Amino acid sequence: MQNSSGKIIIVGGGVIGLCTAYYAIQRGLNVTVLDRDPETEKGCSFGNAGMVVPSHFIPLAAPGMIAKGMRWMMNPESPFYVKPRLNWDLMKWGIQFWKHANEKHTEAVKGLLTELSLESRKLFSGLAEKEDFSLIKRGLLMLCKTQKGLDAESSVAAMANELGIRAEVCDSARVSQLDPGIEMDVAGGVWFEQDCHLDPNKFMHVLRRQIINAGGEIRYQTEVTDYLMKGGEVTGVKLTDGEEITASKIVMACGAWSPAMTQKLGKKLCMQSGKGYSLTLKNPAQLPELCSIFAEAKVAVTPIGDTLRFAGTMEIGGNNLDINPRRVRGIIKSVKEYFPQFCDEDFSEVKPWAGLRPCTPDGVPYIGKMPDHENVIVATGHAMMGLSLGPVTGQLVAKILDQNSEPDQRLGVRF
Ligand SMILES: Cc1cc2nc3c(=O)[nH]c(=O)nc-3n(C[C@H](O)[C@H](O)[C@H](O)COP(=O)(O)OP(=O)(O)OC[C@H]3O[C@@H](n4cnc5c(N)ncnc54)[C@H](O)[C@@H]3O)c2cc1C
Repeated sequence: MQNSSGKIIIVGGGVIGLCTAYYAIQRGLNVTVLDRDPETEKGCSFGNAGMVVPSHFIPLAAPGMIAKGMRWMMNPESPFYVKPRLNWDLMKWGIQFWKHANEKHTEAVKGLLTELSLESRKLFSGLAEKEDFSLIKRGLLMLCKTQKGLDAESSVAAMANELGIRAEVCDSARVSQLDPGIEMDVAGGVWFEQDCHLDPNKFMHVLRRQIINAGGEIRYQTEVTDYLMKGGEVTGVKLTDGEEITASKIVMACGAWSPAMTQKLGKKLCMQSGKGYSLTLKNPAQLPELCSIFAEAKVAVTPIGDTLRFAGTMEIGGNNLDINPRRVRGIIKSVKEYFPQFCDEDFSEVKPWAGLRPCTPDGVPYIGKMPDHENVIVATGHAMMGLSLGPVTGQLVAKILDQNSEPDQRLGVRF
């Protein structure tokens, strides 16, 4: 057994785990990150769309989502799908989602999500002064194919401006002026000026390097199977090969696999995995300068260096990374509709990537202590905003670790 009193173990080396390690080390804490994956670039934190999105202040459980979701379920190429199955966890999640998909909930959490996003954006800006991860602070275009779509997004823009998030409603000429690099067939869009994009892969490498250089440890191919317990207290973790590591505090940042880990302490987080795909073109027909989202099709578009990444779909179907070709086709179809210079052949050599977003039913992440186990801190459930909220989450968790402070109750762990 490795004795490491005062040591903090972070389980999960995705963006949440690494951001936590980064800010914990800055506070002088002794940190080891454990991840069961090899040191590759395959997890959810690498292949995502790389957007930093204060514009996303409406939670996934948004008003009208249930009706929209039902309609989408009928279309195999649509951006949303729930795999019907008899599963208590899914039913519980569905009931919670349904209870939160209303105006009242959006009103209750939009301020919190805005606060977190703007703080995280500030932290990204600070980090970009020291390290290069291709942060581009030129905003995001929410592109609308139809006038109906533009009307709906205009209402969101009005709410955004009230919250202090700058949003400009644009006609098609204005969106072309903002991004002359790409031909668009759209009715217009909303420009969220404070949104940014970056290279998620580079960002993860920057974090890894910073953590190692500052004396932290990251161990790959190291799976945590259980907790070490003494007199009802959690005193460390057990690994697959039988190794045991003692620690004073443990952070659970296991993304989509977090419920399995909290269940070992008697309570399973209410969470479902939302699978998404991304397709990265090495030699795109055209390269936009700004990132964008196809509003109706729910496809994200991000220029990353000379490449162009399209990302989309939300499949609630368990923890599997199988590629569903029909959903991938749905993404490609939408690209041709919004960006007419692109065609099917552009994607013929592209290997789709899949990742699992950890989704809470109310669209608010879980950042807090495990009940009855104060030294186990949970940090997960960021769904479509894990990258975006990575730095602010890391900072919040580092503060809890350092000062043993009470986390923000609005973010606390919910079952
Ligand atoms: C298509 C797509 C596009 C997206 N676009 C964006 C975007 O533009 N902006 C944005 O903000 N977010 C985006 N996201 C969401 C974002 O990628 C996720 O929210 C984020 O990566 C989650 O990070 P995480 O650290 O919580 O989980 P993960 O990245 O999944 O990391 C969890 C880690 O825990 C490890 N682990 C699990 N269990 C154990 C165990 N028992 N022992 C050891 N290790 C373990 C896993 O191996 C994994 O590496 C997107 C997601 C997808 C799928």
